[in-house]
Amino acid sequence: MTASRPNSADVVLVGGGLANGLIALRLKALRPELRVLIVERDASLGGRHTWSHFATDVSAAIGDWLSPLIVHRWEGYEVRFPGHCRDLTTPYLAITSDRFHEVVSAVMGEDCWTGVDVAALDETRVTLADGRVIEADCVIDGRGPRSSPSLALGWQKFVGLEVELTAPHGLDHPIIMDATVDQLDGYRFLYSLPLSPTRLLIEDTRYSDGAALDQDALRADITAYAAARGWTIARIERQEDGILPIALAGDIEAHWRESRLPQVGLRAALFQPITGYSLPDAARLADEIATLPAVTSATVRACVEGRSKQSWHERAYYRLLNRMLFKAAQPGRRYIVLERFYRLSQGLVERFYAGRITLADKARILIGKPPVPIPAAMAVLSERSVFPKDEHS
Ligand SMILES: Cc1cc2nc3c(=O)[nH]c(=O)nc-3n(C[C@H](O)[C@H](O)[C@H](O)COP(=O)(O)OP(=O)(O)OC[C@H]3O[C@@H](n4cnc5c(N)ncnc54)[C@H](O)[C@@H]3O)c2cc1C
Repeated sequence: MTASRPNSADVVLVGGGLANGLIALRLKALRPELRVLIVERDASLGGRHTWSHFATDVSAAIGDWLSPLIVHRWEGYEVRFPGHCRDLTTPYLAITSDRFHEVVSAVMGEDCWTGVDVAALDETRVTLADGRVIEADCVIDGRGPRSSPSLALGWQKFVGLEVELTAPHGLDHPIIMDATVDQLDGYRFLYSLPLSPTRLLIEDTRYSDGAALDQDALRADITAYAAARGWTIARIERQEDGILPIALAGDIEAHWRESRLPQVGLRAALFQPITGYSLPDAARLADEIATLPAVTSATVRACVEGRSKQSWHERAYYRLLNRMLFKAAQPGRRYIVLERFYRLSQGLVERFYAGRITLADKARILIGKPPVPIPAAMAVLSERSVFPKDEHS
């Protein structure tokens, strides 16, 4: 490899995924004096995703600046369980990778580098696979999730097919959980987003102990689900799939000792512990970074590390629920935990997803006939039950 003359920038965003794309938008809006470079190894930004969130997950101000990215908005959604079905009126919104690429690349102009692999990075230098070196005051690592010995995780695995049907499906809002299906490989549900009168994104999701994903089997299960709903698939337009982390326990201090860089997104353990979704956290973090008095590797690292640790501690209760779901409930009966949860008030459900539950909400979620055996629940009360710290320190 031959290194050409060093390029330089104020901020280099390594990885053009969700977290760094949102940081790019906020830096361009609030700090136009900075030269911000985004470097993505794929041909486009944002991979192959449909990122959804509830309107109540983010503040109105964040909702405003996210609006150019929103491709679909529905005024409510539905859940289905063997014991009950329910419509909720919380608006649900979706961003597609295509729109994300279009908006972020237009804002970044020639400082959006796609098809460029980063080989190495530290706090002041980014070395590209072709040997070029970029020097910067601030280098932000947004290369997506990394495995960490400091976190104990379960897995939410899914395959989604965007399908064109031969006739209208008749849905006017998403079904975000249809758990009236066979409970295979842990908690299983189907997720259907109506993208047009004849187009659906249908995902088959499993909350499982292991991270293995049999894509062929899930594709076949989606086709069978569509047939059972009376939907005839004319064409499969696109596939997306994922294996998302579900936090059970861990040592967040040790996680941050594993790297000296400012890390963002899933890499920073900034995700909703139950869903593995990171969009609301990423949006809030983008605002925080763009309003720092100075944007350097040191200031961004301090900001993200602080936010990540604070969120981790605030979300201990979610990890307890996850341990009950993964470790105390029998795999085929995990759906009962969610079925019961969805009998609670809409306000509580909204606060739960947004990470703003109150003490009363916490009590309300656990009060009543427990959906898991009490001895099994008692056994997972402590994080040490699944993550003995002494073995990891
Ligand atoms: C299919 C799918 C659907 C999801 N749906 C939702 C959802 O509905 N709502 C939600 O909130 N969350 C969702 N998530 C979870 C999570 O929010 C996403 O995974 C999100 O994209 C994570 O953001 P990130 O910035 O951490 O990583 P990513 O968005 O994965 O970005 C990482 C980027 O870094 C690039 N990269 C990696 N290494 C290099 C390198 N060496 N050089 C250059 N570039 C590199 C990658 O190509 C990638 O573009 C979904 C995840 C998946 C996989």
